[in-house]
Amino acid sequence: MLPIDPTADRSRRAWLPCPRCNHGARCGDCQSAKNCATHWQYLLSNKGTLVHLQCPDCGHLWSIDTRDRTIRRYKAA
Ligand SMILES: [Zn+2]
Ligand SMILES: [Zn+2]
Repeated sequence: MLPIDPTADRSRRAWLPCPRCNHGARCGDCQSAKNCATHWQYLLSNKGTLVHLQCPDCGHLWSIDTRDRTIRRYKAA
């Protein structure tokens, strides 16, 4: 497992499925419109519509262009 990025901040989170561990796949909160308290991604940074995320469960780092998708909700500090 990769170390969690030092810039990761629990106050900046995004609710997206992790492409590696898909940690919310069997979770009722994740499948509904709720922001699950357990399954979320660190929102490391964003540049326009491109956001960099890290999964706190498996450490997977990836980027996603949110122009094509709707991020359910994220809070930018
Ligand atoms: Zn993951
Ligand atoms: Zn969940």
